[in-house]
Amino acid sequence: MTADSTQRRAVPSVDKVLRALGPLDQPRPLVVDIVRRELARLRLLRAVPEFEDAVRGVRRALRDAARTRIRPVINGTGIVIHTNLGRAPLSPGALKGIQDAAGYCNLEMDLSEGKRAGRAAYVERALALLCGAEAAALTNNGAAALVLALRHFTAAKPEVLISRGELVQIGGGFRVPEILAASGAVMREVGTTNRTTLADYTGAIGPRTGLLLQVHRSNFFMEGFVASVGAGELAALAARKRLPLVVDLGSGAPCATDSWAGEHEPTPSEILKEGAALVCFSGDKLLGGPQAGVIAGKARHVAALKREPFFRALRCDKLVLAAMQGTVEEHLSGNHAANPVQAMLSCDLASLKRRAVRIVRALRELPLHARVGEGTAQAGGGTLPRARIPSVTVDCEPAELAARMREAPTPIIGYVAGQRFRVDLRTVLPEQDRELIAAFRHAVTAEAEPNQL
Ligand SMILES: *Cc1c(COP(=O)(O)O)cnc(C)c1O
Repeated sequence: MTADSTQRRAVPSVDKVLRALGPLDQPRPLVVDIVRRELARLRLLRAVPEFEDAVRGVRRALRDAARTRIRPVINGTGIVIHTNLGRAPLSPGALKGIQDAAGYCNLEMDLSEGKRAGRAAYVERALALLCGAEAAALTNNGAAALVLALRHFTAAKPEVLISRGELVQIGGGFRVPEILAASGAVMREVGTTNRTTLADYTGAIGPRTGLLLQVHRSNFFMEGFVASVGAGELAALAARKRLPLVVDLGSGAPCATDSWAGEHEPTPSEILKEGAALVCFSGDKLLGGPQAGVIAGKARHVAALKREPFFRALRCDKLVLAAMQGTVEEHLSGNHAANPVQAMLSCDLASLKRRAVRIVRALRELPLHARVGEGTAQAGGGTLPRARIPSVTVDCEPAELAARMREAPTPIIGYVAGQRFRVDLRTVLPEQDRELIAAFRHAVTAEAEPNQL
């Protein structure tokens, strides 16, 4: 018998491992699949480990898999719109909307007539009002909104004019030139990286031009010898040439950002007032809603986009529409503070400080050297990249706490700076403070490697 087949036999059976694991809290097919993969991995090893070690390996694989399951975390990064953490935390109105729509709802039913009706009419109306637009429509995300607009306006004339200073990459997988190419548009770059003038656009307009596009630079900014064309000037040129101007705003601030960001983020209504035909932006950035793309502007353009067969592939489900409805109603009522994104961004330092003092006091008995620190929060999500928002942190030692805190019942995501593990309270909801304290306790007292499922 070869050494190989001896080892193969030494790998335990799936059943034996399953019995050793005992009761499971993951669906059995998932567990069996993980056991099989783990045993297959052992089969490739030079020396097959002891049975107990094999079972321990399987438990570790199960725990790693369980960690990839979607679950709540506490955001202590100070980055409010954190794409890795699900972007905008939803408001009470949005949550209520989701709950109300989860069962049967009047999604496409006119309750006065008892007949089939259009979808999303109310939330589109509300969004249009919020954006100062004639009409609005919703897609699955901001990228989808842009693609829909690009495809529509370049169907007859394929060229899209865009400044070389706006050919940006937003985040994972969103690069403006690639989105243009994927939409079937022909990109016509104008100006230079740092300077684009109105004359650059004027000179580039030709019989094949279908659209002028302006893209918010999102996560970067330019300084020095720079020039760009404002939406108003560009809209005037577009009107003279009978071309639409579409502005991809990225964030779509529902209200002024000046007070907390120290800089002005153009709002959809401002850009539309300047004459853009359409704006598009994400639902889950500064608007603080669910993942969605908003298109707002001229009624005839919005209606035409909605008639595109491709729109059907991009439409939102009822939960998103209901969450957006709740979000927009709060903004329209002027109750911006009901939205966690807005509340976090505009929260005053004194109340953050009070919470930090209370938390540090609660951690006094633990060997963590907890203390109140100064931090800097950011809007995130490619919004206001220059804004550094003063914030308050809870700082603990050692820095290695970072990994332990991610193992807490509600994982805490903070950051390490100056040899300390830091939690920025601006992005922690006040009602999460108790859980945060519990997580610190858990990190000090729990086993290093909780091996249970
Ligand atoms: C974020 C962003 C997008 C992409 O929006 P998603 O909703 O993430 O698809 C597009 N354009 C700009 C300028 C952005 O900032």
